[in-house]
Amino acid sequence: MNTQKNIEGPNGEKAKKETLELINGYNPTKSKVDLVSPAEWSQISTFVRNSLRPMAYMAPNTLRPFMTAATRLAVWAHRQGLDLDLGYLFDPLMLEAFEVQQEAGVLNVVSYLTRLAEANNLHTPAASTGVPRPTYQRPYSTHEIQSLTAFAKAHSNLNRRISLLAILALGAGAGVVRQRMRGVGADAVHTHDDGSTYVRTITGCSKVTDGFVGILDEVCRARPEGQLIGAAQGDDLTTYATSWVKGRVGVPELNVDRLRATYICGLIEAHAPLQNIFEWSGVSNLESLDGYMPFCTKPSTSCTESVAQ
Ligand SMILES: [Zn+2]
Repeated sequence: MNTQKNIEGPNGEKAKKETLELINGYNPTKSKVDLVSPAEWSQISTFVRNSLRPMAYMAPNTLRPFMTAATRLAVWAHRQGLDLDLGYLFDPLMLEAFEVQQEAGVLNVVSYLTRLAEANNLHTPAASTGVPRPTYQRPYSTHEIQSLTAFAKAHSNLNRRISLLAILALGAGAGVVRQRMRGVGADAVHTHDDGSTYVRTITGCSKVTDGFVGILDEVCRARPEGQLIGAAQGDDLTTYATSWVKGRVGVPELNVDRLRATYICGLIEAHAPLQNIFEWSGVSNLESLDGYMPFCTKPSTSCTESVAQ
């Protein structure tokens, strides 16, 4: 963890003693705003203080909005049962999920969090603009999804088999991004009034594509407790899973962003209502959705129908 010695501002400023004291003595349970209970603070204080220390070169008063922002993020994550891990929570997609669930009026919290992420060396392409952006990737073809599924189903190691199937079903079947796969257990899979199967993540419920309902069912039966993707934490697991698949003849590389693109492009191509696409994919605006359009098959309604060969 950062010590006073190696803290430096963008212009080489050294940590200020009074700011470090402010961080170390920070206790938002005494604040006028109802931010966090004493019991919660005891669980999140280490994370909040650690995230703030790289900004100790700032003047105490300048740091205050950052302190509130970090606390709000930690409270939200703690109440969602998410791991208090810097790289995990400060990921742009995670910040986007957090932002969506904030009340109006606290939206600029995310711009402070983006700067905190930078101070913690959690650089992302989105960090410079302050706007979290999803990663647009080419969806898998139907054939590629079949190859991946067949490979997963035939895997001789039971744990890996279930983890791979879970990643495929959550990613390509429900559009769940890597970060949001964490903490998703069998109890998150449920049915809505329309009779369809849905998966609940921190951003809401996603309708599971027909082709993955059976696979998700199988995963839930094999792993009724804990995370569907397996016990390993966060990025580790999807990274391991990628290595299990890598280099297999006839099997494309496993990429969770491509799985999600497969789900979203599938909804677009199936002419799902726009509101449902937003709701199920967790995409929050048209601009973000537009990033997937170049990868979607265009409807064949042009005025010059090709003549059959
Ligand atoms: Zn639901």
